[in-house]
Amino acid sequence: MILHLKKNISAERSHEIAKELKAINVRGKGNRLLVASSKIKNLPSQFEEDVETTYPLSSDIQLASRDYRQATREIKIGAHTIGGNHNKTLVIGGPCSVESEEQITSTAELMKELHISTLRGGCFKPRTSPYTFQGLGMEGLRLLSQMREKYGLNIITEVKDATHIDAVIEHSDIIQIGAKAMYDHGILRKCGETDKPVLLKRGFGSTLQEFVQAAEFVLSGGNDNVILCERGIRTFETKTRFTLDLCGVSFLKEYTNLPVILDPSHAMGYAYGVADLARACTAMGVDGLLIEVHPDPSVAKSDAAQQLNYDEFRALYKTLDAIAKAIGREII
Ligand code: PEP
Ligand code: MN
Repeated sequence: MILHLKKNISAERSHEIAKELKAINVRGKGNRLLVASSKIKNLPSQFEEDVETTYPLSSDIQLASRDYRQATREIKIGAHTIGGNHNKTLVIGGPCSVESEEQITSTAELMKELHISTLRGGCFKPRTSPYTFQGLGMEGLRLLSQMREKYGLNIITEVKDATHIDAVIEHSDIIQIGAKAMYDHGILRKCGETDKPVLLKRGFGSTLQEFVQAAEFVLSGGNDNVILCERGIRTFETKTRFTLDLCGVSFLKEYTNLPVILDPSHAMGYAYGVADLARACTAMGVDGLLIEVHPDPSVAKSDAAQQLNYDEFRALYKTLDAIAKAIGREII
């Protein structure tokens, strides 16, 4: 149950109520926003005087629920805003990993050429094998910062574990929590302590309930700026890398108030399907697309098979406007 406490509530009283209900007192809301377990359906009578409104909810999808907040949250990314009723689809492009100054500069220039505002690139890579490229680490973050300054791009990069989270928060405009980190409560809680936008990827073995509950860790920490990212789940199918759960996306759009970004690159795992999927996702009216692009995918140090080359990326990008327009949206 979510509780909105009365305007003049004292911090002491708010903490008393929170303690009694085992509720979270959400940061940055003047002690007026408490979230208790969804198992609590009725407000104990001794708190009636203190509470303005209660929101009993059917599950622990609470702050993210449309029953609590009807409008999709607005999230500012640099000069752009997604969510709300802006009807914008934000395209994010860039390589899987930042590999060198030359590679990331060239990709940043491609983004500028196409008037794309947000550049992606991983520096701390959550690889499946310890013997493969693990990312440039701090050196990669430094390169991304250079791109941000030189080209005025917004930067999204992923946090893999708690050891470098402060650096990622400092150097990024959107913090990406990868699929494998979706259950990392250290990362989730730390992301709740900042107000920077967070892109939370769905774990490939996670249900929608678990996915949105992971988002609740960030939201209940006081960070309102959470974006969900569907990037494919593991099914019995082996011909594609993962299975992009578009039914799940419809669920998220219907039942949550969080913007949703789609990642066709990781779902497909092969460049050949990425453009078709990106168009299908655009037609669904999602808030954004995350697409991997590399100057020469054949030599990419991670996710080589799925990254588009520049010509493929340009060709795809050109087709998105018309699809977005057909459903009253705009590509940004
Ligand atoms: C990535 O975006 O490069 C990545 C590793 O994604 P995911 O966490 O979805 O596997
Ligand atoms: Mn990748």
